[in-house]
Amino acid sequence: MGRMGSSRVRLASAAILRKAGPVRIFNTLTRKKEVIKPLKDKHLGMYACGLTVYDFAHIGNLRTYVFEDVLRRVLEFNGFRVKHVMNITDVGHLTSDADTGEDKMEIGARRERKTAWEISEHYTELFLEDAAKLNIERPQVIPKATQHINDMIKLIRLLEKKGYTYVTDDGVYFDTSKSKGYGKLARLEPGGMLPGARVEVNPQKKSPSDFALWKFSPKGTKRDMEWDSPWGAGFPGWHLECSAMSMKYLGKTFDIHCGGIDHIPIHHTNEIAQSEGATGRKFVNYWVHAAHLIVDGRRMAKSSGNFYTLSTITDKGYDPMSLRFFYLQAHYRRELNFTYEGLDAARNAMNSINEFVRRLGEYDGGKDNVGVRALTLKTGARFTKAMNDDLNTPEALAVLFRFITHVNRLMDERRMSRANARMVLELMLVLDRVLGLNLKRSLEKEALPEQAEKLVKEREQARKAGDYVRADAIRNRLRDEFNIVLEDTPEGVKWKKRS
Ligand SMILES: [Zn+2]
Repeated sequence: MGRMGSSRVRLASAAILRKAGPVRIFNTLTRKKEVIKPLKDKHLGMYACGLTVYDFAHIGNLRTYVFEDVLRRVLEFNGFRVKHVMNITDVGHLTSDADTGEDKMEIGARRERKTAWEISEHYTELFLEDAAKLNIERPQVIPKATQHINDMIKLIRLLEKKGYTYVTDDGVYFDTSKSKGYGKLARLEPGGMLPGARVEVNPQKKSPSDFALWKFSPKGTKRDMEWDSPWGAGFPGWHLECSAMSMKYLGKTFDIHCGGIDHIPIHHTNEIAQSEGATGRKFVNYWVHAAHLIVDGRRMAKSSGNFYTLSTITDKGYDPMSLRFFYLQAHYRRELNFTYEGLDAARNAMNSINEFVRRLGEYDGGKDNVGVRALTLKTGARFTKAMNDDLNTPEALAVLFRFITHVNRLMDERRMSRANARMVLELMLVLDRVLGLNLKRSLEKEALPEQAEKLVKEREQARKAGDYVRADAIRNRLRDEFNIVLEDTPEGVKWKKRS
């Protein structure tokens, strides 16, 4: 990278940020865009509800995790130090978010004839692999619910002491009528229900909105996952897990809590009730929620045959970065409809950005163009301004693509210098710290498949030994089987993909 270019962008990034203004995020609690102000200096605590690991993450789950990753990247780009905690729900999430139905882990275990422990380990691993493929920065803390049972029991004890709990035949419940401001996040009606919500019948619950903190193991059965507690053997409620783990790692009050919008009326509402009941303090300053993803206009479901995972897509030959780009094209608060046509468009866009970056790396052009330098910095500022405005990714990408078109034309006409290209390249890589599209990959020389590399070496040996028949046969094989064309140059053998 040209030294001149890099120092300029680096020096300018302070100016880029100054022009971009502060980070504003839509806070579900206040229904307003608010400037992010940390509780402590430049430090931000951010909690994200993790996957219930009884099955693959679907592309709707993954959309939420990519959104959280972009949020973290934007905050870090703006100089905040983010402590990102994402839990793994490996017990206690029932088929209904409102504490009815069966534990999802047990369902997964039965389906695959494994123990709940094996299931959770298996799907946790696959989930973290998917996240890495999507270039999601690994959260600093990834606590598992099953490793925090004592913290949860302590929290129930505290709530019990403060008079928030009662016991029924099937568990320990939180009494929502005792909770001041219950339902404020979702703006629930008095009684704690969403307008028109279906009321489930549990005659021992004092109010339909009350929820389980601890569920007893059914009498006479032994679950794969159960623990002793002062109230009887059983397992924790899903909402309790997130309260216990978020406060353990981020404090009684912390900055940002994220998740999908489906968490607002029950899961996050109940997290607030428990946490604020236990501590008497405000739980979270900013609640940030991503909208749903649907597939071909319909809700994803295994029964509809449209339950898509990352492998569904990569098995068809798509790169995970195409999916990431697809997500970024839509604002995180808008419902996103996944179609393969949309993914194709995202793939084409990804190809053109990668091609642009590769070209910038190789460009050896004409005279210095002062306009390019000014435009580069202006683009950086515009891009960041869009991202800082409630993560306006569609606008930020539009800014970037106008810039790419313009600079491509300048390169076609050789109206910019090599140093100009290096500076633009550096901006692209700087902005990719926010987008996470792994653009620097297009600067790396593509590696040969292992088998092909072996053949190239064998051909070299054959040539040195004067066995040209064999050398030519290997050359043809590389062309036909691997689509690779060899070129003998004074610097040795070079190869390229046949286009
Ligand atoms: Zn949660």
